[in-house]
Amino acid sequence: MNYSIDWLMANDGFECECGKRHFGLLKDCVIGENALFRLPEMIRKYGGTHPFLLCDTLTYAAAGERVTKLLDSENIPYTIHIIERIHPAPDEKIVGEALMYCDEKCDIVVAVGGGVINDTCKILAAAKKVTDIYVATAPSMDGFASGSSSMERGGLKVSLNSKCPDVVIGDAEILANAPTHMIRSGIGDMIAKYVSIVEWQIAALLLGEYYCPTVAQIVRASLDVCVNVAKDAVNGDHEAVCRLTEGLVMSGLAMNYAGISRPASGMEHYISHIIDMRALEFGTPADLHGIQCGMATLLTVQAYEKLMRLTPDRNKALAYVEAFSPDAWFGHLREQLGHGAEAMIAGELKEKKYDKAKHAARLEKILANWDGILRIAGELPSSAKLRGFFESIGHPVSGTEFGLTEHELREAFLMAKDIRNKYVIGRMLWDFGVLEEFADNICY
Ligand SMILES: [Zn+2]
Ligand SMILES: [Zn+2]
Repeated sequence: MNYSIDWLMANDGFECECGKRHFGLLKDCVIGENALFRLPEMIRKYGGTHPFLLCDTLTYAAAGERVTKLLDSENIPYTIHIIERIHPAPDEKIVGEALMYCDEKCDIVVAVGGGVINDTCKILAAAKKVTDIYVATAPSMDGFASGSSSMERGGLKVSLNSKCPDVVIGDAEILANAPTHMIRSGIGDMIAKYVSIVEWQIAALLLGEYYCPTVAQIVRASLDVCVNVAKDAVNGDHEAVCRLTEGLVMSGLAMNYAGISRPASGMEHYISHIIDMRALEFGTPADLHGIQCGMATLLTVQAYEKLMRLTPDRNKALAYVEAFSPDAWFGHLREQLGHGAEAMIAGELKEKKYDKAKHAARLEKILANWDGILRIAGELPSSAKLRGFFESIGHPVSGTEFGLTEHELREAFLMAKDIRNKYVIGRMLWDFGVLEEFADNICY
């Protein structure tokens, strides 16, 4: 099957081999030259009479001003709120601001911006139970059409259920004029899918997690699209930027189909989350979400390469876990992450992944499925190929390029496994008692 955005839009609600009926929830997707001019038509199509526009100062300049002129010319009244911060954080403040400025007469939400504005408007539209239109200003991440919002709540990165935008508008000229680094970020966020698809399959094999081969195939198809157009996209080619945007939309739809984030994020996203949490707490260096995920994908792929050469050693694993102190580890998390550590520690107290008996049982499962794990990991591209690809588009290959120290990268690699209750390679390395030695080898 040749999955494309057209196929997905035309086949929404398809009956799948995994037993689910998959809904993408996106109703209209207009990507191409002059796509913005179709905004008034979309507002009317979904019964909007008074849109609420949300943007920040940068996205107002990139597209927001054009949107207001377009609505003026079509005599569509609107309320606009411009977030007066450069690169606003996806936190309680922005959601509160959006809610407080969206007045009673607003019956449709129009997000004009990147991931943060879109994620905020998804929450706003879900709370107000109104239609949500997203005008993308940069192909910088893959959450355009997902039904969740990636936020910072109480200092912890969380994925909140919100709603999928009803309409995505991607105007070729606006997208191609986005800063090159944001285009690279979209590519980095897609490259992460090499890992997420592998880790999803491993979790299904080891833990019996729900897995859908069709959704995995859709993600691989969208990844292929993005890789193929990457070079032209960073050079601002309109057609390539539009194809990249479609790939990002497809990836978000795949998440909706599965109903979980497994198809789109794994270990590399958690490394990125740790970097964000530390930046929030201590002001340490950070880069765009997709750039962090891209460089962390390279780290993770290197870890898998090393894992594939590992001879599993049951005794070493058991001795390592015997000597492991959860309390000492919690202390380390608090020291490294500050506030954000508390939610991670609370998660572990509920989940008990560090319980010795649970570990022993898990280890036996891993050993019994070792051949299957190696076969799945064989799907990953080589780190040499990935590095070459990143270099060809000017994408950072290490966090040191945006100011992190190798020590900070090592710490992010160690702590990533504690972000969510999801089995990722960091956990498997801990299960084998080799997490620290792998981190030393990969991060330095
Ligand atoms: Zn399925
Ligand atoms: Zn992402």
